[in-house]
Amino acid sequence: MLRSMRAGCACFFLATGWVSAAQDWSEEHLTVAAALQERALAGTAAYEHVSALVTQVGPRFAGSAGDDVAVRWALNRLGELGFSKVRTQDVLAPRWVRGEARVEIVGPGAQPLVAVALGGSVGTSEAGVEAPVVEVESLEALSALTPTEVSGKIVFINRRMERTRDGSGYGAAVSIRTQGPSAAGGLGAAALVIRSVGTSDERVAHTGALVYRIDAPRIPAFAISNPDADLLSRQIARQSGQHGASGKPVRLRLHSTARELPSTWSANVIGEIPGGERPEEIVLLGAHLDSWDVGPGALDDAAGVAIVMEAARLISKLERAPARTIRVVLFANEEFGLSGAREYAKLPQEEIDRHIIALEADFGQGPVWRVQSQVAAEALPAIAAIHQVLQPMTIELGGNDASGGADIGPLRELGVPVLDLTHDGTHYFDVHHTLNDTLAKVDAKALDQSVAAYAVAAYLAASKRGDFGRLTATTSASQ
Ligand code: ZN
Ligand code: ZN
Repeated sequence: MLRSMRAGCACFFLATGWVSAAQDWSEEHLTVAAALQERALAGTAAYEHVSALVTQVGPRFAGSAGDDVAVRWALNRLGELGFSKVRTQDVLAPRWVRGEARVEIVGPGAQPLVAVALGGSVGTSEAGVEAPVVEVESLEALSALTPTEVSGKIVFINRRMERTRDGSGYGAAVSIRTQGPSAAGGLGAAALVIRSVGTSDERVAHTGALVYRIDAPRIPAFAISNPDADLLSRQIARQSGQHGASGKPVRLRLHSTARELPSTWSANVIGEIPGGERPEEIVLLGAHLDSWDVGPGALDDAAGVAIVMEAARLISKLERAPARTIRVVLFANEEFGLSGAREYAKLPQEEIDRHIIALEADFGQGPVWRVQSQVAAEALPAIAAIHQVLQPMTIELGGNDASGGADIGPLRELGVPVLDLTHDGTHYFDVHHTLNDTLAKVDAKALDQSVAAYAVAAYLAASKRGDFGRLTATTSASQ
């Protein structure tokens, strides 16, 4: 396999990044990287990893019984796959229980709506909340209302999320979920209902975490499915007189048994492929082990877990190990407060400093369509060289302003450079944080392509002669 790839490797030295490629890597490194890519594209065990996690474990929300099973599953799996130093790092995580949620139109047009509580929401009283609805199209529109207009009512934020490949539609819409509850509570609202931050046109509601401000009352908050948001909005429009209806305000009734429990223990699960020459230096591949409680989290984030485990496993099968260690970290509780990421970043500074670069897979299964970075300026030619190896998979080169992802964010803030392999997110938000995030949505070919991209990037990072510099306040400010 390696021998047959030799003829193809001349391309690296004809292309524009050849100077960096030649400085940072031997011809053998580039040949091995190309062969890794070919091997992954021919088929990997990533789909089997996803299948095992969603079938043997299922939902694994932080602190739940499923979370415990997931930690044991990951320890076993990494051990079986031949990882070294397989271990846990204890993580204290907040504990929240969803209970049951009901949202219904009392009238006119009485009917139940498909709804979920937002993650972290307080519940209602036993009697629930019944009140007229005030519809707004955005957080900005809500903040333009006065307490008199909102007080005692149920605020309905009806902002539609746009479908995009890069996930920017989510970034633009998600504040209605994170900030909406306190924005409405601060104006005296009795409760909040939002249009799901998701792109499904099925009757399924998307959950996700809210963030209560300390200076606003904590009110119960729910998401309703997109078709139900349309229904509610139509009913409100009719009642406002546009269609000659009665003019009576639309009333909703809400009920939720969501509640907070004392914090509990979870764990990051870690395994390594030891480096051959500088094993103390680390290339980190991360994903999160937890999922929301509403479904088995096949794309979010069993897919990411599978991609990073499989990329590292393929590297472990090479005849010669790369110089540096590849460390796989399966983070605890990404979904409900990034507890695992924050705990990991508390490692001694001396160990953080040995992290050469970090990559994360937490945006579904792929395929990867772009590589972008946040590295020191002098390492940009090396990123261009990595991109050239990935180019046969029609992967574009992005900018040097990548965030890298939520779980490696705390490391980035400590100066660790990040590489971002952007997955195609066009359909990701159809199932994101819903009960529909199941194995039925997983495409083995897309996973294999992602594994190929991660394996190549991780191998080259772990083999590179120099490092990627460190991020400083000025590096970030200059982006
Ligand atoms: Zn995720
Ligand atoms: Zn998520």
